[in-house]
Amino acid sequence: MSCIEHKTTASPANDAAGRDHNPFDVMEPRAPQRTPVDRKNGKHVKANDIPPQGVYLPNNNILAPHMKSPEYVQLSTAAAITLGIMGGRMYGCECTRCLNLLLTYPEGCRANCAYCGLARHREADRDYADRNFIRVDWPAVPMTDIINIVAKDPDSSPFHRMCISMITHPRSEDDTFTVLGQWTDRIDPDAIPVSILSNPTTMTRDDVQRTKDLGADIFTVALDAATPELFDRTRGKGVQSPHKWSKYWDIMLEARDIFGPQKFGAHIIVGMGETEYEVLNLVQELVDLGGHSHMFCFFPEQGSLMDHLPATPRDQWRRVQLARYLIDYRGVRVGQMRFDDQGRVSDYGISDAELADIIDEGIAFRTSGCPGKFQDDISACDRPYGDSPPSDIASYPFQPKKKDLKRIRKQLDIPVMLE
Ligand code: SF4
Repeated sequence: MSCIEHKTTASPANDAAGRDHNPFDVMEPRAPQRTPVDRKNGKHVKANDIPPQGVYLPNNNILAPHMKSPEYVQLSTAAAITLGIMGGRMYGCECTRCLNLLLTYPEGCRANCAYCGLARHREADRDYADRNFIRVDWPAVPMTDIINIVAKDPDSSPFHRMCISMITHPRSEDDTFTVLGQWTDRIDPDAIPVSILSNPTTMTRDDVQRTKDLGADIFTVALDAATPELFDRTRGKGVQSPHKWSKYWDIMLEARDIFGPQKFGAHIIVGMGETEYEVLNLVQELVDLGGHSHMFCFFPEQGSLMDHLPATPRDQWRRVQLARYLIDYRGVRVGQMRFDDQGRVSDYGISDAELADIIDEGIAFRTSGCPGKFQDDISACDRPYGDSPPSDIASYPFQPKKKDLKRIRKQLDIPVMLE
């Protein structure tokens, strides 16, 4: 068995304060400030009503044009580069395998999640279309332009999957149905399957069913916080945001019923104040229900209510990444693992030799998410540098190489045995 004794002194993987995990007490979000009336609900964007002209690249120095879904969507910088809409290169990757789309409105998302760059409080200083989200800009593009490019030859597309992120807005269900229907009318979902990153707060069972009927393949719920208490602090009452853990859980169970095993899942951000034991218990619960967990390493998004807090120390992140992979794909149960008095993994529940093989395969440390066309445990959704800078990668958007694995082993505090 692989027992780990945690250090009390700083190691290269610890944060600046020498911590090897982010404790609950430290991870307190800032309180949101009042928004001036003239900046509320995208008022000035709507009042000026500047017509959009093709692609809009985020630019905080000019007023954003009046763009809204379903005609317009935003897409990740990685997807825009892959589609040829934007120039640029990504460290270690030729392209992304997932076309991530976001619904867009001048009012933006009406929720106020503390870790999120799209949160409502940001309307005080930044138009919605100019906000950074998971560390990158999201250009706005007419949906028909995107479909026209991909529909030319879906079978040879670099994209293994498309995903619609719904955000919290009164129009998000109807516009998701429209965007999804337009896509599946022109692009065979067997060639490029579609995932829905849902907004449970405003959804009903019928809405979930409708996404399935329109051709969606996987339905996910962004729980993001690993416990109800953390959820409330970062996405609910704690930050004047409308979300409730129970509603998220209910919609996920509807998705389980409608989409079936392996076709639903939950996003979880690691390092917002939960213990490793808590997050891995949740991973086990999801697996026992027949679903998957998609993990993100907490990163202090600039402009968010948590931008003053430390990113998840790499020790904590690697332990959770590895243990989650064992539970999700290798049949290891959380009950077989051992945890110390601070809830940190101290034993992964398998032999050292087995653990060494799994670490050396490297897949456990790649970005997790909905599968692509390579194999079930390799995510199409590779989100290049969405949770870390390339200089200190958290989720690898490519297959980790020998030098990466060496670094990962150091972060895990497991002796380097690579040649
Ligand atoms: S609902 Fe989603 S997009 Fe909106 S603030 Fe929360 S995490 Fe961000």
